[in-house]
Amino acid sequence: MERHSIVVVGGGGVGKSAITVRFVLNRFVTDYDPTIQDSYEKEIVLDQNKCLLDILDTAGCEEFYYLQGITYRTGDGFLIVYSITDRSSFDLVTHFLHEICQIKDLKEEEVPMIIVGNKCDLEVEREVSYQEGQDLARLKHCKFIETSARTNQNLEEVFYAIARETKQIKCYC
Ligand code: GDP
Ligand code: MG
Repeated sequence: MERHSIVVVGGGGVGKSAITVRFVLNRFVTDYDPTIQDSYEKEIVLDQNKCLLDILDTAGCEEFYYLQGITYRTGDGFLIVYSITDRSSFDLVTHFLHEICQIKDLKEEEVPMIIVGNKCDLEVEREVSYQEGQDLARLKHCKFIETSARTNQNLEEVFYAIARETKQIKCYC
């Protein structure tokens, strides 16, 4: 079976663990240890073919810089997550994007990456507009999706989209 390694990155508290656990186990977690990095396997059917996603929920600790390098090198596709309620997490997106490309020594359009604006259920607390997310994604040649781990909005979409992009890129290599 095909395997694709998907890495979930982003600032602290944006919902990386919540997104991953919601997609893999269909549960909404509110008390996940922010320092824990964990990996999950999920089988999906992509265009009539079964494939296995190895999903790595990172904890994004700066001290693990060396480990981060290995993670980025081995990852096939990346979800770069921010919270729509936290502008500073949005500002970090570009940083993650550049780090990934630099470590892989590839251009932005050559790495499967999706910018994910999470917590879209918290509309009253919104600090980053949909348009801003979309503009950044366009600039960086990425797809953009807003999600909610709480309501399960667009989570299937986002993981299937990154799996599909990853598969396509591999086919061209
Ligand atoms: P991480 O540090 O990026 O892994 O963030 P977590 O997944 O631990 O989430 C941090 C907090 O945000 C937790 O209390 C989650 O329950 C909450 N959270 C995560 N995603 C959402 C979401 O889509 N909507 C809402 N309302 N809360 C969320
Ligand atoms: Mg976490």
